[in-house]
Amino acid sequence: MFFSKLLIPTLREFPSDVDVASAKLMIKSGMIRKLASGFYEFLPLGLKVLRKVESIIRYEMSIIGGQEIILPLVFPKSLWTETGRWNIYGKELFRLKDRKDTEFCLAPTAEEIIVDLVRKDVKSYRQLPLMLYQFGAKFRDEIRPRFGVMRSREFLMKDAYSFHTDELDLEKYYQIVFDAYKNICVKCGLKFCVVESASGPIGGSLSHEFMILADNGETEIAWCRCGYGATTEKAECLKVESCKEKLHTLEEVFTPSVSTIEDTVKFLNLSPKKFVKTMIYIADGNPVAVLARGDHEINEAKLQTLLEANEVMLADEQTVISITNAPTGFTGPIGLRDVNIVADLSVIEILNAVCGANKKDYHVKNVNYKRDYNVNIVADVRKVVSGDICPRCKEEELKFLRGIEVGHIFKLSTKYSKLMNATYLDTKGKENLIFMGCYGLGVTRIVAAAIEQFHDDSGIMWPDNIAPFEVLIVPLNYYDDRTREVTEKIYRELSSKGLDVLVDDRDERPGVKFKDADLIGIPYRITIGRRYLTVGNVEFKARRDSKDNVKFLKPEEVVARILKIFKK
Ligand code: ATP
Ligand code: MG
Repeated sequence: MFFSKLLIPTLREFPSDVDVASAKLMIKSGMIRKLASGFYEFLPLGLKVLRKVESIIRYEMSIIGGQEIILPLVFPKSLWTETGRWNIYGKELFRLKDRKDTEFCLAPTAEEIIVDLVRKDVKSYRQLPLMLYQFGAKFRDEIRPRFGVMRSREFLMKDAYSFHTDELDLEKYYQIVFDAYKNICVKCGLKFCVVESASGPIGGSLSHEFMILADNGETEIAWCRCGYGATTEKAECLKVESCKEKLHTLEEVFTPSVSTIEDTVKFLNLSPKKFVKTMIYIADGNPVAVLARGDHEINEAKLQTLLEANEVMLADEQTVISITNAPTGFTGPIGLRDVNIVADLSVIEILNAVCGANKKDYHVKNVNYKRDYNVNIVADVRKVVSGDICPRCKEEELKFLRGIEVGHIFKLSTKYSKLMNATYLDTKGKENLIFMGCYGLGVTRIVAAAIEQFHDDSGIMWPDNIAPFEVLIVPLNYYDDRTREVTEKIYRELSSKGLDVLVDDRDERPGVKFKDADLIGIPYRITIGRRYLTVGNVEFKARRDSKDNVKFLKPEEVVARILKIFKK
């Protein structure tokens, strides 16, 4: 392909209103343009990368038996009410009405639609297992669209759904998809890790996220040398023992206007580890008191899973007063009635603790579990912190990293088939629920994450397999006959072997061409300049090599070298 014929509107300057390197580079290199907050146009160069990632994914999905389909982008509300997700999905769901006032939404994920399809067309164990997948736009009205196409409101997802006769078959297949996802990340040339994760609004019992390691990734990962890895939302916390000491008598202390943990810690001159923080939450409409140690934070994702709630949120001031008889900041577990109390594992270990007295301007000292208060549930409901020990090997301290989530796989079991009555007849003619897994990959996010991982100050450095073109030929003067001849010869020889080659045939200064070459990041560059006209050598340079690492080769040598790199 010829540069002059393609729409590659590179910019001289970085766009000023963009927050991360990948988004800046995608816009500057002419891959994408922003239409509105969270909505992007993919131009030819951007689309080429997207298609390459797509074809790597398609290959891996097809060899594990996936069958490609296309679902509509507009879904009827009726299916979403069957699972309750019309309400649960909240504001992230784009909703619309047709001219008859029938309600619809734009696809954010497609479990309901695919389960409906399967319950109509799959009747017998003979039709299982079954794996269906699609590449389709997804729409989510994200609170904060940002990072370009990494968190946009419309993005391309590969979503896949598998259906099984039983849990065991689902488990085996989950592992197969897990491995296919790893292959996809390897083939895309990415540095990644796989971690356990919380299932969020999609649900199910087990899920893993595929993370591209990047310093500005939105997800924090806790990991250990023993092989354990989890998002910090999911990472298990072991109980932290407290120092043993003699139990003292309960004592009420006057703490005027001291309502935050920090202020109380200062006022009483005690370690935050001695404090029991009590928060009133509302879980699907029911109040619940949640206790965590003063230096720990409550993990709402864990709380939600523990309570099997669709939504948990902090109670407002009025609710806190009606439950505790005191304003926020003075809540404690002693004497709390009419609410369930959940305590984090580490809370009940604290001896002679301090907590709110459920009375304005008062705290209580020397509070001890069982002697002074009881709870309904003791469980791990806090966020992991540095210094926590690995929950798997129980030896080393956890370490922390940041990553970009590109894929998420879920073992849903019968969550959706139960709600939507999706069944099959087994060998004995008995009706059973279908078991299900679902597997998402953010195709557009992979493109951005790859740039996040592979760029320098001058531009993108594409991994070979997902580069928009594999080779860039830069004739410094395309209109010189000998230069043009050799350019076209190299172009033909590489293209005929299936390589994607771009020729910069523009009538531009060499400086402009080199700048754009570095910006666009095509992995291998062949420059045809004066040296070719004098001694017959062309320049060969890999984008990832340093500026002065240029090799001078005969045209046939450069062709042979590139064919070898791509194993052609
Ligand atoms: P996140 O926690 O980042 O919001 P999610 O858990 O909501 O992601 P899933 O519902 O599991 O994401 O979607 C599958 C994949 O789709 C994600 O792994 C991610 O790669 C991609 N994805 C999700 N939301 C967006 C978005 N707003 N923009 C681009 N890609 C997205
Ligand atoms: Mg999300």
